[in-house]
Amino acid sequence: MLRKGTPVRSVVAAQTTYRAYKEDLRRDFSSRCGYCDALDEFFGGVRGYQIDHFAPKSLFPEWLLEYRNLVYSCPFCNRAKSNKWIGDDKNIPNDGSSGFVDPCDPDLDNHLERDNHGRIRAKTDLGRYMIANLNLSLIRHQFVWQTQKMDELLGELLELEARLSADTEHYRSVLQEIARVTREHREYRRRAFEA
Ligand SMILES: [Zn+2]
Repeated sequence: MLRKGTPVRSVVAAQTTYRAYKEDLRRDFSSRCGYCDALDEFFGGVRGYQIDHFAPKSLFPEWLLEYRNLVYSCPFCNRAKSNKWIGDDKNIPNDGSSGFVDPCDPDLDNHLERDNHGRIRAKTDLGRYMIANLNLSLIRHQFVWQTQKMDELLGELLELEARLSADTEHYRSVLQEIARVTREHREYRRRAFEA
């Protein structure tokens, strides 16, 4: 599976600039890039993230403020996607083998998946097109995924630790040390990725 869930755009109040939708997008996309699924904390939080126009605003200025056309995006995916679009119809994002799938469309999971190492893999030709055109094979996408995975596993371990009995003191101290080192490591990485 590429992601834990498909983001859903909610009904939001109309704004006069697309940037004013950023907090709405952040909430609807659970602080994750719509394309690579990285949490914005790896890029300095909401200020480090950008708003991508799925149907490019340079080609379809009439959708500049169209909330259903906006994607919460990391700077790497936004830059890679740029104004790429197949054809000249804003309602046709792909032809089945070229183009893009809206991150809020569950169909995306039919074309892309994650392997156990965090690599984003194509399941179809359209998936291959997206990997190539969004630069989804960048090692940083794996790196960020692994960090998120470590956080999740650490959380699971700590839940288990809370249920251990007192005679497992050694096990507990090793686990706490792992938690401490992992947290510090995560903090260094967070700072290294700050925008
Ligand atoms: Zn991204």
